[in-house]
Amino acid sequence: TRGFYIGRFQPYHNGHQKVLEQIACSSDEIVIGVGSAQESHTITNPFTAGERVLMLTQSLADLDCPFYVIPIEDIQRNALWVAHVRAMTPPFDTVYSSNPLVVQLFTEAGMTVKSIDMYERLTYSGTAIRQRMLDGEPWEHLVPPAVVNVIKEVHGVERLRQIARTD
Ligand code: ATP
Ligand code: MG
Repeated sequence: TRGFYIGRFQPYHNGHQKVLEQIACSSDEIVIGVGSAQESHTITNPFTAGERVLMLTQSLADLDCPFYVIPIEDIQRNALWVAHVRAMTPPFDTVYSSNPLVVQLFTEAGMTVKSIDMYERLTYSGTAIRQRMLDGEPWEHLVPPAVVNVIKEVHGVERLRQIARTD
């Protein structure tokens, strides 16, 4: 079986990593969608799709399950979104998600959807991590070590602070 998991991964964090390690145990292969791929350099989406591909690929290097990381741009039409995703990805049979809209759209499309538990949601949250970066609080312990390196390489914290300034 090939499993599918999608997120924006702004940034990729330990909650996502736990979920993917769990999915790896019950799938032969995993397809990972990087959503809102066209977005970058904003407060809610600071990192490019390419940077997020790097975060995922390097963090999952030791996963004992083959995986594909596929950027997926938004389309402004939820009714067509499942077809859009499927057009961009290797075929998959099982969708893993805890996002209500993702669950709803794939269920309506007749696909097998498995919901997954949140792992310390208040701590492991993209929003909380971006806020810590802005506030100068420690965030490195909330993401895999490879993500710390990618964010350092692209000067991600400085970028986020710069775009948060007012003119
Ligand atoms: P943001 O606050 O920017 O929305 P996020 O932490 O929700 O970031 P997303 O990229 O939006 O991260 O999430 C991708 C998927 O991972 C979503 O379905 C989300 O529900 C799930 N997810 C997020 N945090 C956790 C967590 N701590 N444990 C398990 N799943 C999580
Ligand atoms: Mg989210």
